[in-house]
Amino acid sequence: MSLEELLDRMVTTSELAESLEDKSIRCLACAHQCNIKPGQRGICKIRFNQDGRLMVPWGYVSSLQVDPIEKKPFYHFLAGANALTFGMLGCNLRCGYCQNWLTSQALREEGTGHLAEYIRKITPEALVEYGVQYGAEVVASSYNEPLITSEWARDVFELAGKSGLRQVYISNGFATKEVLDFLGPNLQGFKVDLKTMQPNHYRELGGGLQPVLDSILYAHQLGLWVEIVTLLVPGFNDSESELQEMAAFIHSVSPEIPWHVTAFHPEYKMLDKPRTTHQQLIKAVEIGYKEGLQYVYGGNLPGSLGKYEHTSCHHCQAVLIKRRGFSIQEYLITPEGFCPECGTKIPGIWSATPPGKRSFPF
Ligand code: SF4
Repeated sequence: MSLEELLDRMVTTSELAESLEDKSIRCLACAHQCNIKPGQRGICKIRFNQDGRLMVPWGYVSSLQVDPIEKKPFYHFLAGANALTFGMLGCNLRCGYCQNWLTSQALREEGTGHLAEYIRKITPEALVEYGVQYGAEVVASSYNEPLITSEWARDVFELAGKSGLRQVYISNGFATKEVLDFLGPNLQGFKVDLKTMQPNHYRELGGGLQPVLDSILYAHQLGLWVEIVTLLVPGFNDSESELQEMAAFIHSVSPEIPWHVTAFHPEYKMLDKPRTTHQQLIKAVEIGYKEGLQYVYGGNLPGSLGKYEHTSCHHCQAVLIKRRGFSIQEYLITPEGFCPECGTKIPGIWSATPPGKRSFPF
């Protein structure tokens, strides 16, 4: 059985759709808003029209593991928590530097058929039970683009919420208001990749800039905890003016939103660009601070970024969380989420019990 045949058996019907004439459907799970005729697939290749019904993935994972939440990265969302992270297959974009391209470009690229071996049928109950057993406080949808598999995520998240787990998306943010409303109370954290401020570069990646900016603003207005990541690709998105524009946009939504600038290494189809150096990352972090952001971090180069891996109080500069890579070495935020030195509220969602003192492994 081919990968496509296998995946087409693990589906459910979706409400995230509008019926059009002649049994065509408009899918509302991402900003492509594909108009899909009967028998056809959307741009992601994962969602398809079967006789006027939108069929979407349900009931499997291609990857499932427990990671530190810092790996997502979330630095201000239950710091130190274990995040049970699951992924399905497929994406709505086609970034030339994708680091998960085998899972994201399944059904689009040759040579992904062997992924059938990694597909594991699972129920939301079993998945949540696994998380509870492994001491997860958070359940995260990641590895592929979660927006295109939101029906599955919502069912998992609904159950996870009942077991006391928080729910987060690791997304490219090429979303619609409809999909964010659909996830509604079953989503608390939204990590968005803001890849570039150049509309033509977003088009090269198979998406668009404005829907991503709109989704960041809307997620923030909905009260989700938002963190933003930019993979800094030399020669693609690292000019001073572009980084200033990014930081200014984030600041316009809220200066409290953490911005992570992370190092690129050549991958997939973008093998012609050099790796990001730690000097380039530090320069980008400093641009973020100059634009008025309160929390800017460098990532993917553990140990070489000094204070830019740590969380320092935006008011008095006291170091509150010391990190090296994904591991927390020191944690001083009060149980109520304040700086112990000056009493400033630190934006984010904090646990009353610090990492290392909670009753599960870190
Ligand atoms: S998720 Fe996006 S790309 Fe996939 S069918 Fe729906 S609108 Fe199209």
